[in-house]
Amino acid sequence: MKNKSIMQVILLSVLVCLVCLASPSPAKAQKEKDDLALTLQNVSGNVYCLEGAGGNVGILKTAEGLLVIDSKIGQVTDAVLKELTALSAPSTLSAAPLKIKYLINTHYHGDHTANDEALAKYADTIIMHPNCKASLIKSLKEKAAEKTFISKIQTWKEGMVINLGGETVRLLYLNPAHTSGDLAVVFEKARVLQTGDLFFNGMPAYIDVKDGSDTGNWVETIETLCREYPDYKIIPGHGEAATVKDYLAFADYLKHLRKETAAAIKAGKTREQAMESINTDQFKQIKANELGNFMTIKTNIGWIYDEMAKKK
Ligand SMILES: [Zn+2]
Repeated sequence: MKNKSIMQVILLSVLVCLVCLASPSPAKAQKEKDDLALTLQNVSGNVYCLEGAGGNVGILKTAEGLLVIDSKIGQVTDAVLKELTALSAPSTLSAAPLKIKYLINTHYHGDHTANDEALAKYADTIIMHPNCKASLIKSLKEKAAEKTFISKIQTWKEGMVINLGGETVRLLYLNPAHTSGDLAVVFEKARVLQTGDLFFNGMPAYIDVKDGSDTGNWVETIETLCREYPDYKIIPGHGEAATVKDYLAFADYLKHLRKETAAAIKAGKTREQAMESINTDQFKQIKANELGNFMTIKTNIGWIYDEMAKKK
């Protein structure tokens, strides 16, 4: 009998532990909920930005339908569809089916493209750079065969401009930078520039060395865009809407890491030694984001080191 009650206590303890492991603490659950929360903001004129849970989504609202740039992470499919449907309605009083004239991808990363399949049902055309298409199909592996959105892709061509609802939307490719196929999008009438991940505002960058990133060209691209569109509002890939001054500060951050990493390589330092020794005190305002240890100033140095070693 005594043994039986000891066994019952042990079994109950195991059960309690399993339940604890399976259900997150209230604080953790709240954080997860906050991380998935979306906020829609009007940036300028008919251009909006859907922030939170993955890369920023830029939206042009017109009577002919929406032009949507990027599609966020897979955990927020329903929320993205809900926000886009509400925005595409002619007024808050009248509902209308979601209509997307164009879905544009700035690059292939999953936090910008995971809902392409869900949005494709409502979209006439999907546009991305040819390198982005190739990398996206490669990243989907065998799942690519199941995806219907691929048949709607029209690849970017030099000088591509979309005229929709009185807005002129210019699609720019300025050679490999964050990835091998980044597009920046210019809304000329609203005077808004959407950069995709060519801009991480207030946080360290992700540098996709395997896909052929080029941080040297990335800096030049930022300087070109800031020169061409000095008074535009900027929708970055991640972080809050920004100005050219903020964007140039991000270029300075990349430039500093490149200069110091090149010097470390020249001095014969290893990747780890470079990550530990380079002084980045002047970039204290750049804080690690929700990806924590994955995207930090140190990992940025490591990726730049890899990129430079690869190009040697
Ligand atoms: Zn990215």
